[in-house]
Amino acid sequence: AVSTDDLVAWIRAFRDAVHAHKDELTQLDSEIGDADHGSNMARGLDAVVAKLDPVPATASDLFKTVGMTLVSSVGGASGPLYGTLFLRMGPPLAGDGEADAAALGAALRAGVEGVVARGKAELGDKTMIDALSPALDAWDAAVADGPAAAARAAADAAARGRDATEPLVARKGRASYLGERSAGHIDPGATSATLLLEALRDTLA
Ligand code: ADP
Ligand code: MG
Ligand code: MG
Repeated sequence: AVSTDDLVAWIRAFRDAVHAHKDELTQLDSEIGDADHGSNMARGLDAVVAKLDPVPATASDLFKTVGMTLVSSVGGASGPLYGTLFLRMGPPLAGDGEADAAALGAALRAGVEGVVARGKAELGDKTMIDALSPALDAWDAAVADGPAAAARAAADAAARGRDATEPLVARKGRASYLGERSAGHIDPGATSATLLLEALRDTLA
């Protein structure tokens, strides 16, 4: 089972991964956006990590803090969208104690549904949803094998979804302003969302 400490470790690992890939995220966003996705995510997650001492007592406290901090510290589209993802993950985990693979999958699903409700992106619109939505389906398909296996499957599916954004024409966000010229580039948000799932995989391994 997954403890609140594991979930805190996940958020810290995501912050570290974003820092390690900050220039790559910014480069991807310079091709089809405004070259700030790396700095937006790094700044937001630094603000998040600063709020994790003392460590939140419950998973729902943790995700509320993470979500509210991202919404308030990141100006770009990614702040409210990632903020919503985490804010919606908390309530399904409100029971005390540890989360099993099904509970964590339900929380992730609530989070991604929140991003869709807020951003109105569908699969294939060349956004973070193209990584998150297949990851959820892979999680559910592997849920009986436990959280570590579900997270492995989800991270693999996210990476495939990220790679599949390359030929697509963007239909949401800044990249959509480029029209056909957005094709031929991997989406930055799908790349950071893959880092999120890979950080979960590595934390639960
Ligand atoms: P901004 O575009 O405001 O500069 P960022 O560069 O931080 O914000 O984030 C851009 C990423 O946000 C995109 O690569 C895309 O994945 C994601 N994104 C943008 N609009 C949407 C949306 N409506 N729904 C889902 N994701 C979106
Ligand atoms: Mg940008
Ligand atoms: Mg911007």
